[in-house]
Formats: sequence, C-alpha cells, structure tokens
Amino acid sequence: MTKKIKVKTTVVEMDGDEMTRVMWQMVKDKLLFPYLDMNIDYYDLHIKHRDDTDDKVTVDAAKAIMKYGVGIKCATITPNEDRVIEYKLKKAWKSPNGTIRAMLDGTVFRKPILVNNIKPAVSSWKKPITIGRHAYGDVYSNTEFAVPSAGKLELVFTSQDGSKIIGVPVFNFPSKGIAQVNYNLEKSILSFAQACFTYALSEKIDLWFSTKDTISKIYDAGFREIFSREFELNWKEKFNKAGIEYFFTLIDDAVARIMKSEGGMLWALKNYDGDVMSDMVASANGSLAMMTSVLVSPNGWFEYEAAHGTVQKHYYKHLKGEETSSNSMALIFAWTGGLRKRGEMDGTPAVIKFADKLEEAAIATVEAGTMTGDLIALAEKKSYNKKVNTEGFIDSIAATLQKKLND
Ligand code: NAP
Ligand code: MG
Repeated sequence: MTKKIKVKTTVVEMDGDEMTRVMWQMVKDKLLFPYLDMNIDYYDLHIKHRDDTDDKVTVDAAKAIMKYGVGIKCATITPNEDRVIEYKLKKAWKSPNGTIRAMLDGTVFRKPILVNNIKPAVSSWKKPITIGRHAYGDVYSNTEFAVPSAGKLELVFTSQDGSKIIGVPVFNFPSKGIAQVNYNLEKSILSFAQACFTYALSEKIDLWFSTKDTISKIYDAGFREIFSREFELNWKEKFNKAGIEYFFTLIDDAVARIMKSEGGMLWALKNYDGDVMSDMVASANGSLAMMTSVLVSPNGWFEYEAAHGTVQKHYYKHLKGEETSSNSMALIFAWTGGLRKRGEMDGTPAVIKFADKLEEAAIATVEAGTMTGDLIALAEKKSYNKKVNTEGFIDSIAATLQKKLND
C-alpha cells in the first residue's frame, strides 16, 4: 500500500438518507479512505438525527462550510406528511438544501457527467452544459389573482414610512380574467451574478446569460443591467486573463444557439427558465444519476452533491434483501468536485490529481461496459456490456482506480 495523500484542511461531510447513505459509505470505504489522509468534520443529516436535534445539525453543517470553505453532501429526505409518519418525526422539517442555500446565499450549478458510450440526445453536444439557476422570486413567489368581472386592475406601492404612494395601472378588464405579479430583489440578482462569475472563472468556462429583455424592459432588462455592471466592475479583467467570455443574449437566441453548440459553457438563467432548461439538459444527457450539483456562494464557499435524491425505491428493495443496481457516479463526483476544490484552495496538487484519477477511473469503468441498470439501458449496445449491482459497480471503479494509481 502506497503512502496516503494528505488533505490539508478539514473537509465538511454531510451524510444523508436511504440508498444514497448506503452508497456513500461504500464510496468512502472503497474509494476514498484507503488513499486519503483527511480530517473530516462530520454532520449526520439522516432524517432521524435532524429530527432529534430539531434540525440544528443542518444549521451547524452550513456554519462549518462557512468556516472551512468546502462541504460535500449526500442526498437527504425532504420530509412530507408520508415521511413524518414513516420516521415518526416531530414535524416536516424544511429541506436541508433550502436551509443551507439560504445560509450560504448560494446559487446551484448542475453539470452532467459525460461518457463516450452514452450519446446526448443533441448530437452536437460534446462538452457538458452547466446550468446556473437563479433560485429566488419570479413566478415561485408570485401573487395571482382571478379577476372576477370587468373592472380596473392597478398595483399600489407604499413606501415603508408611508410617505410615498405610487399607483401603477395594469389593465382595464373588459370581462373576467386572470393576473399575476412577480417581483425580485436587486440584492439577490447581484448575488446570483457574483456566483455565476465565480463559478465560470473557477471552471474556466464561458458564461452565457439570457433573459427576455426586449419585451420586459424593466424586469428582465434589470437582470441584464445588474450582470453587465458587475462584470465590468469586478470580472472583466479576470475573465480576460483566464481567456473566457461573458456573453449576454436574448433567451430565444440563446436556446437556438445552445442546440447547435458543442456545449462547454455555463448557462445562467432566471428562476423559471432555469427550472425548465435544467430538466431539458438533464434529460438530453440520459440519467439523473449522471448529474452533479454544486452550490456556490458569492463569499467563495462551495457545497458539492449529486443532483438526484435518496433513490427511495431502490432502498426499499435493499431493505428487503433484494439486489439493487444503483448508480454512484454523481455521489463520487460530489467527492471529487469537493476534493479538487479543497486541493485548489489549499495548494495541494496531489489532492487535485487524486480527484482527477478517481473521475477518470469512474468514467473508464462505464466506458469499458461495466454499468448499473440505469446506464445499461442508455448505452451503445456492446457484447461486453455488463450490468453490475450497486456494490459491484463501486468495486469495479476501485479496481480501475488502483491500476491508475499504480501507473
Ligand atoms: P430520486 O431519489 O432522484 O429518484 C428518482 C428515480 O430516479 C429513482 O427511482 C430511479 O429510477 C432514478 N434514480 C435517481 N438516482 C439514481 C441513481 N443514483 N441510480 C439509479 N437510479 C437513480 O427522487 P425521488 O425518489 O423522487 O426522491 C426520493 C427522496 O429524495 C425524497 O424524499 C426527496 O425529498 C429526496 N430528494 C433529495 C434531494 C437532495 O438531497 N438533493 C434531491 C431530490 C430529492 P428507477 O426507480 O426507475 O430506477
Ligand atoms: Mg424542473
């Protein structure tokens, strides 16, 4: 056994639920701990432990990410009424991701893992398209109104001290109809812009941003102006030096261009556009188990995780003693993403190299035809393709990794 690689700064680990918790432990035991000497600040976000601590453990985990800069998270249950009964919870605690995102003031970036034997549905896409979705306001916090009859609709703004009242005419309804009011905060848009510039620079990829600014001359154009001002002020030089571009275009144009591009950019989108487009990109790339996710805070804190959930159905099979074939790719990439960032922050190239090798080993395993059920269904049909179970997949990656490290 060769000497273990030292990870300089403490890594914040957040354990999770169900099938991902099972895979998480295997990934640590078989792919990480044999090779890395790392100090872990461990937070158990298992639903029962969140309940026992009145969710304080989630808050503590977020604080630890703020302290050390990098957190790596397993998938967790967001409880609903069924889960409250299933786990006998005191209440339906908030989504841990929501709590952490609010504390870190972060933006989520999702990026697919590409392998050469699974072709994206869009044939021109050669490199991963990362989606950055603004996760505040717009239609998700709108006010809707069913207009009952003919009549006049107007908006009224009253300043906090009551000194200013502004009335905005909306529409003279000739008959029954519907209405909707959206809002956003300059502060939130700016912080979204900063997270996007931070991520693009950190990954050294171009940043595209698109809104419907030609039609929405205050709202969508406001997004464009905030991005543009922030870019000119704080990022232009850094982008020039890194050889990357910031590119704004109308959303229609962006959609058309993306479909013909070879990928490889960060595409920043408003809340609704990001919701829809991230599902499109995910589906064009095949499996949810091949989608990674990172929360980037404008303060330079990073939290890595898989985009998928706890794979509940597979877990129930696992509990019954049945064989499962769950895919650990995105969980592994959460670790490699976090470790690579840790290595960059600490100035430890050996850690970065290990992260690269582990990713290469995971991709090489799939490309050699050894896959979990979700991927077998998508991959090019080859005689040597072999479906393996949850643990067998991780074992194959471990064997490939061992070979790569010996080279
Ligand atoms: P899910 O865990 O993402 O799984 C949905 C389906 O996608 C699975 O049933 C499976 O399809 C497939 N899948 C997802 N990940 C896979 C993997 N690694 N390997 C193989 N197949 C995979 O979503 P869910 O079942 O709707 O949600 C379960 C729990 O996860 C919920 O309690 C939810 O609150 C939580 N959740 C957490 C996060 C997070 O922590 N970030 C995100 C989303 C959901 P087949 O069954 O067809 O094989
Ligand atoms: Mg969606």
